[in-house]
Amino acid sequence: MTETTPQPRKRLYIRTFGCQMNVYDSDRMADVLAPLGYGPAPSPEEADMVILNTCHIRERASEKVFSDLGRLRVLKDAKAERGEQMVLAVAGCVAQAEGKEIVSRAPWVDIVLGPQTYHRLPEMVARAARAAGAQIDTDFPVEQKFDLLPEVRASQGPIAFLTIQEGCDKFCSFCVVPYTRGAEFSRPVAAILAEARRLVASGAREIALLGQNVNAWHGEAPDGATWDLTRLLYALAEIDGLPRIRYTTSHPRDMDAGLIRAHGAIPQLMPFLHLPVQSGSDRVLAAMNRGHKADLFLRICDELRAARPDIALSSDFIVGHPGETAADHAATMALVERVGFALAYSFTYSQRPGTPAAGQPLQVAQAEKDARLQELQALLRQQQDAFNEACVGQDCAVLFTGPGRHPGQVMGRTPWLQPVHAMGPLSLVGQTAPVRIAERYPNSLSAILLDQKELACA
Ligand code: SF4
Repeated sequence: MTETTPQPRKRLYIRTFGCQMNVYDSDRMADVLAPLGYGPAPSPEEADMVILNTCHIRERASEKVFSDLGRLRVLKDAKAERGEQMVLAVAGCVAQAEGKEIVSRAPWVDIVLGPQTYHRLPEMVARAARAAGAQIDTDFPVEQKFDLLPEVRASQGPIAFLTIQEGCDKFCSFCVVPYTRGAEFSRPVAAILAEARRLVASGAREIALLGQNVNAWHGEAPDGATWDLTRLLYALAEIDGLPRIRYTTSHPRDMDAGLIRAHGAIPQLMPFLHLPVQSGSDRVLAAMNRGHKADLFLRICDELRAARPDIALSSDFIVGHPGETAADHAATMALVERVGFALAYSFTYSQRPGTPAAGQPLQVAQAEKDARLQELQALLRQQQDAFNEACVGQDCAVLFTGPGRHPGQVMGRTPWLQPVHAMGPLSLVGQTAPVRIAERYPNSLSAILLDQKELACA
């Protein structure tokens, strides 16, 4: 806590939906409100301000937000009866997409702000306290929020997230991100390296670089040169005390040769990559406006494995995009068979208002989408289980992140991002230690701690 930070006088509760980038944004909103005297509240009931940080990716996202707002209205009214105030804010992608709709359907909301204007939150809170009526800010301002937000304050623990890029220029047919997060923006090199060093100084041992199109990042260096992600990864690998680096989420179009080679050349770059492909059919990839064919994805996977033989691959799939035929689905199944994924996320296509695919003819019947998804998920599950099974009996380094569910247990992550638990002292938290994988469960592993000298592979 700095000298200028007052002791918390008010309590803030943030409910975060969606991806890790929203978690990062929620932390930054807490940072920006701390100088106003806001500290964390354990529940909305105990809060003077509640923020719903929303996500528009999943179906019925806005309905979930409105049902939460209904419950919060009851709390807000109860507080008002006691003569107390509760400031209610909606942030994130639903706020960006449906700002006016929110205040007309839920007029008890005080603040609606899009992802690009979090730095304006203190001003909006002050205005909301003074003025009647909701404050709405869903601009894409010229000034960049990262320049105007305060430095990251709280320690995120051994695994930390660092947003380096936001927005997207790719306009996939099914996706709302280009509309809710705006054009691609890359943070400059100096700001990223300074934040990374602060995170390591506050205990981070793994940094995951975040961006909607993280491998499209191209940041300005202090000498005016433009760096790409590969160069940034090499610079981050120079930071003392940072044994692990990851980046997510990548687009196949931006996986260039240098970045693929970096996976073999930078030991700190963990052997796990999430690379969404969405479909194995060129026809569907074209309809999705993905800008690449299945072949490119397969070639990238082969080259990554040549550069880093132990790399585990993860992906995203959308089943039943408008126009997808049984043959297209079979092409997706063939791609999955060919690659073999350690992890994957798969969903049926759902219409997002305002996106190009929403209005397309040839929408696939829900029953057909469900049947295709089931078939795909069965194969992906089989591959995930096989990957985890192959780890049993292997030695690796685990970064311990906190206590386990049972007394005497500690939890951590393998280099391949699997959650793992072992019996061991809490003093291991924040350290990387060698283990032997003992058993696999549906979504995690158990391990036995090894002596450093026994470690066969890291
Ligand atoms: S690349 Fe496509 S899916 Fe990813 S954020 Fe951009 S538009 Fe959305």
